[in-house]
Amino acid sequence: MTNDKVKAVFPGTFDLVTLGHIDILKRGLALFDSIVIAVLHNPAKQNAMFSVEERIEILCEVTRNIPNVEVQAYNGLLAEFAYEHKINFILRGLRNETDASYELPMAQNNRIISKGQKLETIMLATDPSYIQLSSSLVREIASYASENFDLNTLNQLLPSVVIDKIEEKIRR
Ligand code: ADP
Repeated sequence: MTNDKVKAVFPGTFDLVTLGHIDILKRGLALFDSIVIAVLHNPAKQNAMFSVEERIEILCEVTRNIPNVEVQAYNGLLAEFAYEHKINFILRGLRNETDASYELPMAQNNRIISKGQKLETIMLATDPSYIQLSSSLVREIASYASENFDLNTLNQLLPSVVIDKIEEKIRR
């Protein structure tokens, strides 16, 4: 028997973090001893709502009371990030067939290109309450919201910290 802790990386854009992400994270923590949330730094993405620094700050705040979670930025190959951090598992969420057709080749290729122990991707089926939820959908709602729109109506989709940050951003 080994004492090695099993660590996973939960990669994503997280612009912005939704309750769907947090559900996958919490369920992942039932499988892994610790999880590194890896925030993709992709300067090519034009329509970002929050900078990587802001996303990291928000994720740290949202996960403050969830043990065994750390948040880091990454760019480049996820397989290299995993190797450098001695991580053998990737955690992802699956909402539908579109997610699956994107995730399967990624999972297969990450396994092929991983150095050392093979990188395995663990995909968790989305909780039905979050199946229609995506960061881009919420960004779109936020981008059209007028001054009178009550952002608290988003509380079934977003952590309250995120609602406050959107409020700051759009009311500015
Ligand atoms: P990416 O651009 O890499 O898809 P996201 O931030 O959109 O980054 O998503 C990160 C991970 O969280 C992905 O595995 C994605 O499928 C998952 N995810 C996103 N939204 C949801 C949701 N509503 N329910 C469950 N998983 C989700």
